[in-house]
Amino acid sequence: MSLLSAETIFSHVKHLQIMQNRTIEIKYKEYPSPDALPAEERLLLDKAIQATATAYSPYSHFCVGAAVLLANGATVTGSNQENVAYPSGLCAERTAMFAASAQYPKVPMRKIAIVGKNAEGELCAATPCGACRQVMSEYQDVAGENIEIILYSEGGTVLVFDGIDTLLPLRFSF
Ligand SMILES: [Zn+2]
Repeated sequence: MSLLSAETIFSHVKHLQIMQNRTIEIKYKEYPSPDALPAEERLLLDKAIQATATAYSPYSHFCVGAAVLLANGATVTGSNQENVAYPSGLCAERTAMFAASAQYPKVPMRKIAIVGKNAEGELCAATPCGACRQVMSEYQDVAGENIEIILYSEGGTVLVFDGIDTLLPLRFSF
């Protein structure tokens, strides 16, 4: 049995006094099905679903579609594009966002819908990876207002997030 020194105990107590436990809460809306979405969100999700057909995914056999709605009313879609040199491929979300920014420079992005389709052809959840969330966060800063993120989810439910801060807390920006 070892005894803690008075100095060690004092150090622990001191840190307990200044340390605070914090919680980050995430709020989002859940719709029971795509049909329950507001019309604009439903339309954007439909375009994301259509975009899964354009995926190039010979390695994963997993298709992802994304559709970005811009402030000028235009919609730009994207899908995952794989490559035999795996890191050279790109996610559907970034394919769509980069294409949107290239086609409509400086036009703010308002909403993005994302959906997956598995090898059996069934729709499924495809939540954005960390890199796509980071890219979304910068386009949100450029837009000057929150980008709404619409995610097809398990069991056919749809999750709607108001802004990237909910999906990427403490995000990097400058
Ligand atoms: Zn990604």
